[in-house]
Amino acid sequence: DDLLVSVEGVYKHFPIRQGIVFKREIARVHAVDGVDLQVRRGETLGIVGESGCGKSTLARCITGLHPVTRGRILFEGADITGLSKAGLKAFRRDVQMIFQDPYGSLNPRRRVGSIIGDPFAIHGLADGADRKRRVQELMELVGLNPEHYNRFPAEFSGGQRQRIGVARALALRPKLIVCDEPVSALDVSIQAQVINLLNDLQGELGLTYVFIAHDLSVVRHVSDRVAVMYLGRVVESADGEDLYRAPRHPYAAALLSAASVADPDEAERAERIVLIGDVPSPVDPPKGCRFHPRCPKARERCVSEDPELVPREGDPPSHPTACHFPVEPGERLSGRQAVIA
Ligand code: SF4
Ligand code: MG
Repeated sequence: DDLLVSVEGVYKHFPIRQGIVFKREIARVHAVDGVDLQVRRGETLGIVGESGCGKSTLARCITGLHPVTRGRILFEGADITGLSKAGLKAFRRDVQMIFQDPYGSLNPRRRVGSIIGDPFAIHGLADGADRKRRVQELMELVGLNPEHYNRFPAEFSGGQRQRIGVARALALRPKLIVCDEPVSALDVSIQAQVINLLNDLQGELGLTYVFIAHDLSVVRHVSDRVAVMYLGRVVESADGEDLYRAPRHPYAAALLSAASVADPDEAERAERIVLIGDVPSPVDPPKGCRFHPRCPKARERCVSEDPELVPREGDPPSHPTACHFPVEPGERLSGRQAVIA
């Protein structure tokens, strides 16, 4: 079975409470609001969306850092949503995370050798000289000089610090690595190096990645599949270049038009679609299609009827879109909002 992770009808709501003695729930943030996703062994699934779309919350649910409100998450066929503390600890050996901020996620007062060795310490594996040897092997694997074992994070550049994070994530040979915007804080030239490293490691170690980003161009060259999220939902997902060639959801099309493109021909073809208004509050998502207040194609049906995430006419089963009026090939979207009677 090549299915590694199966996210099934997952909701993650954060209650907002008020009151000093009796904390009463007054509202809830619908951070993840009904997501189904599969991750196959050895692939990279890119998850893309603006900040606040729920992608980081979803990532934390997949790693077991957040309990889910509803739904279930299967890892190698076993439900992780109801795991005990001990079960969760064992599961966390198989799933690691790489964070956005290589500065913030490394303790400045600790030597990198001991930081990278943390997972061994937490799980009571490899002591003393054995641990040191394994940490130095990891440093070499990610392109760091093993002789820099005793240095502090401040003595490394931003790109090197992200390599420290990668080495730490690899320590226990996880089956899945969730990369939460691992290159957003880095210079463009360094971004490519870190992405190449992650790609090489995937080939060498047979890793599976969930790769989170806010820019479709960042995940393009690492992802076997891309899912676009908006307000807690997946609105479109597709294999390989399908979504880049022909985005079907108006939001995905807008996001793609805003992505930085290296190819000047492509840049010329892609007219920038500027969306009107901000992402609505996830406390009270719009009824019907939650993109309707900003959608250039919105019609009356969109206000009342929530579209299902299913393949649209002419699309392969691997390319579902949650939209009643998907973008047709060659169609040009204007950023102006349609008037709904
Ligand atoms: Fe736009 Fe309607 Fe499609 Fe929603 S369902 S994305 S409002 S056209
Ligand atoms: Mg890859």
